Amino acid sequence: MKTNVKALVIGGGAVGTSIAYHLARAGWDDVMLLERDELTSGSTWHAAGLLPYFNMSFATTHIHDYSIRFYKTLEEETGLNAGFAVVGNLRMAQTDERMEEYQLYASTAETCGVPSVFLTPDEIKAKWPLIRTDDLKGALYHNTDGYINPADVTMAMAKGARQRGVAIERKWQADAFRWNGSHWEVTATKMVERGGNLVPSDEQIVITAEHVVTASGNHAQRTAKMLGIKIPAIPVEHQFIVMDGDPALQAWRKDGNPEHPVVRDADAQSYVREERGGWILGVYEKHAPARFEYGVPDSFRADLFELDLERIEAQYMAMIHRIPSCEESGLKNDFNGPICYTPDGNPLVGPAPGLRNMWLAEGFSFGITAAGGTGYYLAQMMVDGEAEIDMASLDPKRYGDWMTTEWAARKNEEAYEHVYILHHPDEERPACRPLRTTPAFDRQKARGAQFGWVNGWERPNYFGPVDAPDSFDHDARSFRRGGWWQYAVDEARAIREGVGLIDASAFTKHVVKGPGAAAFLDWFTTNKLPKVGRINLTYALTAHGTTRTEYTIVRLAEDEFYLVSAGAWTTYDADYLRKAVADKEADFGRIEVQNVTTQWGVFAIAGPKSRDVLAAVIKDADPATALSNKRFPWLSARQIELGMCPVNAIRVAYTGELGWELHHPIEMQNYLFDLLEKAGEPHGMKLVGARAQNWLRQEKSYRAFGTELGRDATPLEADLPRFVDLAKDFHGKDAMQAKGLRSKCVTLLIDGPADADPWGREVLYHGDTRVGRLTSGGYSVHFGKSIGMGYVKPDHAAVGTRLQVKMFDKLWPCQIVEDSPYDPHNATIRKDG
Ligand SMILES: Cc1cc2nc3c(=O)[nH]c(=O)nc-3n(C[C@H](O)[C@H](O)[C@H](O)COP(=O)(O)OP(=O)(O)OC[C@H]3O[C@@H](n4cnc5c(N)ncnc54)[C@H](O)[C@@H]3O)c2cc1C
Repeated sequence: MKTNVKALVIGGGAVGTSIAYHLARAGWDDVMLLERDELTSGSTWHAAGLLPYFNMSFATTHIHDYSIRFYKTLEEETGLNAGFAVVGNLRMAQTDERMEEYQLYASTAETCGVPSVFLTPDEIKAKWPLIRTDDLKGALYHNTDGYINPADVTMAMAKGARQRGVAIERKWQADAFRWNGSHWEVTATKMVERGGNLVPSDEQIVITAEHVVTASGNHAQRTAKMLGIKIPAIPVEHQFIVMDGDPALQAWRKDGNPEHPVVRDADAQSYVREERGGWILGVYEKHAPARFEYGVPDSFRADLFELDLERIEAQYMAMIHRIPSCEESGLKNDFNGPICYTPDGNPLVGPAPGLRNMWLAEGFSFGITAAGGTGYYLAQMMVDGEAEIDMASLDPKRYGDWMTTEWAARKNEEAYEHVYILHHPDEERPACRPLRTTPAFDRQKARGAQFGWVNGWERPNYFGPVDAPDSFDHDARSFRRGGWWQYAVDEARAIREGVGLIDASAFTKHVVKGPGAAAFLDWFTTNKLPKVGRINLTYALTAHGTTRTEYTIVRLAEDEFYLVSAGAWTTYDADYLRKAVADKEADFGRIEVQNVTTQWGVFAIAGPKSRDVLAAVIKDADPATALSNKRFPWLSARQIELGMCPVNAIRVAYTGELGWELHHPIEMQNYLFDLLEKAGEPHGMKLVGARAQNWLRQEKSYRAFGTELGRDATPLEADLPRFVDLAKDFHGKDAMQAKGLRSKCVTLLIDGPADADPWGREVLYHGDTRVGRLTSGGYSVHFGKSIGMGYVKPDHAAVGTRLQVKMFDKLWPCQIVEDSPYDPHNATIRKDG
């Protein structure tokens, strides 16, 4: 057995096997896979094997799409038939809202080139007469996916991997990891059978590997402990049952009719598919418990839990309702197995926090569907340094150090239970909240705040009625303009016409200082560094020249900088920054990095009257001029005192209005809140939430990280050349220039439906040609119509170009407008006073 390899993959389920295969296919000829038991002995063996395209994420759709295309090629390569039944997938809607969900999904899927069609109840009945359709509104049908045999597809990938030189070692368990500065030393223990259990023997070896990937499925908590990191992947019980033969189905098939598609009844939290003349019923029921929160016992191998029929009774009755002929069929077999989940249901794929050359591929709930694409894109990240799609939404660092086992377990139960709920784009999930709150939380709540979840923080989305029932926000959700919309309109208007106060405390904040700080940041980011007391917007790039992080940099002193980045990405940003500093300290000199995110609260005050509000409370020898353009110009930062609160004020406003960000000691937040609220009263100051802010920043074409800005586009493609100083050398510059302009970020005004705005996931057309996609969407109070931002092919990106956006399965006219359509010359932001 080899003890020195380029890459070591831990775990021989569908995911690990695919990664090993794809690493070899990408050109690494020294790959080894360790499996503590047998291949597929984890969750893979008992999966139902469905390969659903459907999900709401751009990255995940690409991953699923790759898998489905890849699995179709495996037999030719390996000679092994994985039983891919391309029967299609029928998603039925019992309500109009469910149809709207599918319409939004279909538009997103189209951005990735995934085909689907809508069927009426009559069309469903005509094709599949055994399905009851009288209570359906319609269905979404994909004819290119279906189901596969999970063990067989894994074995086919294993064969393909071996053919490409991968060494697969079974009955070896990775037990300890040590980074020696250039390689991982992985202690592996030979596993032996004892009394039906799989236990470690005394035989151990150390394998040296340049890269390690963990794909340890239900054992993720043990893996996390060994690595000294947190991985919020904890399994939940998941059941499906196999029914005896259904004579009506058998007769129908005997007549030469094709197999039924996988029939998904999301409103009944279940799916049904054919299995040897009968049916399989799979469910996503309520109250399925998390398991193995502190590790998998030795006694649990390729085992199952006891079936809990009571828990799935409602779904069972719903199956009989949907396919009445199955009522007489008895129960033939049942499966209740651990299915790994994460708090948002997406797997954790990418570099591990704080570690070098350690890659995670954990927390797969649709691991058979995702295995192929995960292997493909993760191999790109490992071999080429980046994947061709932005993998940030799957990055393991999207959760912070604040998370605990209890939090992950309860959130994972919620994610499971939510699989088939209506996925409103304005959805907020309730479990484990509130958890991370700023001091002003109670005050904001008392004033009607409806909160959104950002990396654990509670951040006001909008301010609704003060005495709203607990269900207010839930009931306000919609695929159209929901019950919260008018509140956001009023808030946006307050900022354009008067003054508003936004809580932006969730921002990620780092201090970077020391003798090497300036030279490092000059190399690390694209823009010129600001002078002391000034700020700049700038980008840290990936090695491939795409956007890794957006920073507002405030220069506090010659060698001290305050970096502000997106609140959702604290650990993701911190990890990249710290690793880059560690790599470059020898070149640039000592650099200290402090994450001060939780030490500083942030209020953003904005609007034409914001200066008046601040002037009433600022303590200064000459308060009348303290906030003037002369003493406090746009894009500068000053230490000011508001009442008794010391504030690092930055003259910048993400809403594109006259305004300041007020960074303050978090422990003084309530004092400052009360002070500003009182001072704002005579000016009609409104508390404003994130939804209004999101609309306002689109009127200014301000790109947002995670939507317009990410690892699939360069800042030049984001059309931000003014923040890229091509006169200097910076990390990723050559790669950025080599990429050219593959697509371009644009702002669009949209003549959409009278009662709906786009969400930023919709496909864009020019005539019959698909030319791009929206990445943001919303309503513009200034223009009185829908607005959006997105990426289009460069030859369709000229200002004035008329395109169409697909919403509710219809094409609506829209037009590319000049950047910053509201106040293009920044007159209001620069206003003196
Ligand atoms: C009832 C049920 C039905 C499902 N149906 C579907 C479906 O229809 N479609 C779908 O896409 N998904 C389905 N799933 C989910 C699917 O089973 C999983 O997402 C998928 O199997 C995960 O694959 P994996 O490789 O990540 O994990 P696993 O298959 O669990 O593999 C992990 C492997 O790592 C090994 N391992 C762990 N630690 C170590 C170590 N330290 N050293 C060496 N080896 C180690 C384990 O022994 C195991 O073999 C279903 C799950 C259940 C429970």
